[in-house]
Amino acid sequence: MDRSIDRNPELKLVGRDARTERTVVRLRNGAAFGAETLAICAGPCSVESEEQIDLTSSGVARAGANVLRGGAFKPRTSPYAFQGLGPAALELLRAAADRNGLAVVTEVLDPRDVRIVARYADMLQIGARNMQNFALLREAGESGVPILLKRGPCATIAEWLMAAEYLLVAGNDQVVLCERGIRSFDPATRNLLDLSAVPLLAELTHLPVIVDPSHGTGLARLVEPMAFAGVAAGADGLLVEVHPDPAAAVSDGQQSLSVEAFGSLMRRLAVVAAAVGRRLPATRIIV
Ligand code: PEP
Ligand code: MN
Repeated sequence: MDRSIDRNPELKLVGRDARTERTVVRLRNGAAFGAETLAICAGPCSVESEEQIDLTSSGVARAGANVLRGGAFKPRTSPYAFQGLGPAALELLRAAADRNGLAVVTEVLDPRDVRIVARYADMLQIGARNMQNFALLREAGESGVPILLKRGPCATIAEWLMAAEYLLVAGNDQVVLCERGIRSFDPATRNLLDLSAVPLLAELTHLPVIVDPSHGTGLARLVEPMAFAGVAAGADGLLVEVHPDPAAAVSDGQQSLSVEAFGSLMRRLAVVAAAVGRRLPATRIIV
């Protein structure tokens, strides 16, 4: 097999040659993926309560994030683990984001939920485990709502781009790719964050790419250095799990930053961003 996927003739719409300009995905609040200013998505793994999402939303907005993340429908390895608050979480997310000028990105697990999630969210997340759920890709593509497409834990770059191709074929070119680590032989980290994917994708596709150092490492203390590395590698933004009390989080607490730690990351990130010609979003106005 030809290992140079840049010559894959099937990448008709996502391939770099399909467009002269790079795609910039803009959300209603002004957050943009692929522009000089980075898109910074932050928030808890799962929406747990009104207080939790409000504290997180105001905290990450103050630190300079421009997109609030939070799971309402959670893909959990165990069927006995917390599955998310569902539609109630969508309401809480929207209200918390609106209070702080943030956009909302949240995962949709089931093609039957695309409509309800799109009613509340500015961007639909297709999670790593669903990257090749073709029925979901078709439905999300037809919705026309911006999509954050995470890389499958065992997906090659070519398979990931073909999954994105499904969205564009369905008529949706508002697609952002998210590198969140791939499964490796080494359990020292939860996943192996493939940062070489970032500059490689810039050669292969016109779509923006962001990095998720939270799922990419599984360890809160590794999130800041890998966030810096992702931006240095050319990422158009970050997805970071932030919780007001990580030790008490119902999911992914060990990889979540406190609001304070996220604020410190953002202050230090500005220097890294400037070194590669990028900027951080302006701090949201808190009402
Ligand atoms: C998440 O963003 O909380 C999540 C479940 O991510 P992933 O699909 O990358 O595992
Ligand atoms: Mn998570």
